[in-house]
Amino acid sequence: MPGLDWHSRFASASLIGMGENAENAAADPTGDSGRVGWRLGDWQQVAHGVYRLVAEPASVNIGLVVGSEGALLVDTGSSPAQGAELRGAVSRVTDLPLVAVVVTHDHFDHSFGLAGLAGVPSIGHESLSQTLLTEQGPTEGVAAGARSLGFDPGELVLPETLIAVADVVGLGGSRVAEIAHLGDGHSRGDLVITVTDPGADGFGGVIFAGDLIESAPAESPAPWYGSDSSPDQWSWTVDRLRGLAGSQTIIVPGHGDPVGVDFVIEQRDAIDAVRMELERLAAAGVSESDALGQGDWPFPADHVAAGIAPGYAEIRAAAERQSGAGGRPTLPLAGT
Ligand SMILES: [Zn+2]
Repeated sequence: MPGLDWHSRFASASLIGMGENAENAAADPTGDSGRVGWRLGDWQQVAHGVYRLVAEPASVNIGLVVGSEGALLVDTGSSPAQGAELRGAVSRVTDLPLVAVVVTHDHFDHSFGLAGLAGVPSIGHESLSQTLLTEQGPTEGVAAGARSLGFDPGELVLPETLIAVADVVGLGGSRVAEIAHLGDGHSRGDLVITVTDPGADGFGGVIFAGDLIESAPAESPAPWYGSDSSPDQWSWTVDRLRGLAGSQTIIVPGHGDPVGVDFVIEQRDAIDAVRMELERLAAAGVSESDALGQGDWPFPADHVAAGIAPGYAEIRAAAERQSGAGGRPTLPLAGT
């Protein structure tokens, strides 16, 4: 569920006057004032025809890709009203129609604005129908998050196209946005958007990485682990992302300034170090509740804390598979 990501983000968001204590954040995610800082920054050009702006709350990067025939938006902001405001922001850059909006994952700062972009073809990962909005309505954590942000969770919508693996959107000429789920990582439904334009001289490509990669805060960049993260798979997923990037490719993280492929490689190694540290602690018999305190982490403890439980669960599941206690897979494998 996105709840823990929510709490950690708000606990870290000094702009809304919160303390750093996640318990306080859980009790009152909007802070003492009951008001969340809402703001869209100005568009900054990342590469030719590719832009990002920073939206508050949560300092989330919103991406815009403009081709010769249409434009594509990456992520939607934190409320339907902010999504609608983004539509206006797009019109300050281009008159071309928005031909797609991609939701990189289900967390509030990326997905809650989608209702404000009605009429724009929208794409998300298929897991969103379980984690964001089920047939029974928004999940509990999502509904609580929407109310905290001051709107009715009934306003939330799912992307109209839910993909398992990949999709592609042409933007005119040779400019294409390829959308792919490369595996589990920050969440169980992270999508990566790769922008290529082989006909454009000097365009080395741009990858919108969602929260698989984060370059914020600038002084000590670190991604956020949540209860819905996969500490076991995350570094493999970033390996695949890295495989899509060339030396000239610009990577736009979910939070923080654009980076090059060297940054991705470095953060991938740190993410892999978290995986290995969890395995070391579990093998040494350190309990789940002691793991955070006893571990040696490459990121601040508050970034890693919520990933301990899913990390230990993955290690237990792997051990059960190995010992056969979980049942040896048998044919047919479909549906297992
Ligand atoms: Zn996230």
